[in-house]
Amino acid sequence: MRLKNVRGSKEAITSNEFVVHDPESFKGKWKEVFANNNPIHIEIGMGKGKFLIQLAMENPEINYIGIEKYSSVLIRAIEKRMEVELPNLYFILFNAEHINDIFAENEIAQIYLNFSDPWPKERHARRRLTSKEYLARYDKLLAPDSEVIFKTDNRDLFVFSLEQVELANWEIHNSTYDLHHSEYSIGNVMTEYEEKFSAMGKPIHRLVTFRVK
Ligand code: SAH
Repeated sequence: MRLKNVRGSKEAITSNEFVVHDPESFKGKWKEVFANNNPIHIEIGMGKGKFLIQLAMENPEINYIGIEKYSSVLIRAIEKRMEVELPNLYFILFNAEHINDIFAENEIAQIYLNFSDPWPKERHARRRLTSKEYLARYDKLLAPDSEVIFKTDNRDLFVFSLEQVELANWEIHNSTYDLHHSEYSIGNVMTEYEEKFSAMGKPIHRLVTFRVK
């Protein structure tokens, strides 16, 4: 994602009611944020938030948390979020590398990774959000039978992700190199990147994986 310095975005985020500002202090206590016992699903690298806002509107019985590391991007999601009444969606400005500092064991019921940064250089492989290093982090916070659902247009990153899942001993629930022309397309919610890349004629790859505990 190209980064512009959006003037005032840091200040606007600091005072926003939909952003949880000290996420570490809610580790093991996210139910308190939502004031109910509904399952919590997260998106890591949420970008401008379209996907998660739509899911939160469609599924009021699920709680959603969007994680984004750049304030200049998060501010766009906040702007959209302000237009709708949604008790089940919060945002965090955070680098997911430290995700185990903010969620406790079994606290999360699903993880979405959409169009994650590819980090094409081999020496940066461990920064990819589907690397075995990240899978180990997710394993700690996911409840039994919970899934990681990953979409990308990047074939190299997708092949890498399939390999990492196998290395880490996760199971593949399903996978496709062309989501939009597959049986899994029904009910698919498009992200901003997905709309852009599929309009360019690029196939969208998707993997649904989980680890048997
Ligand atoms: N999911 C959105 C955006 C994809 S771009 C969509 O599909 O349209 C990838 C996003 O992930 C960027 O906004 C980037 O800032 C964010 N990101 C990348 N690495 C991250 C990390 N370690 N923690 C949190 N966000 C991250």
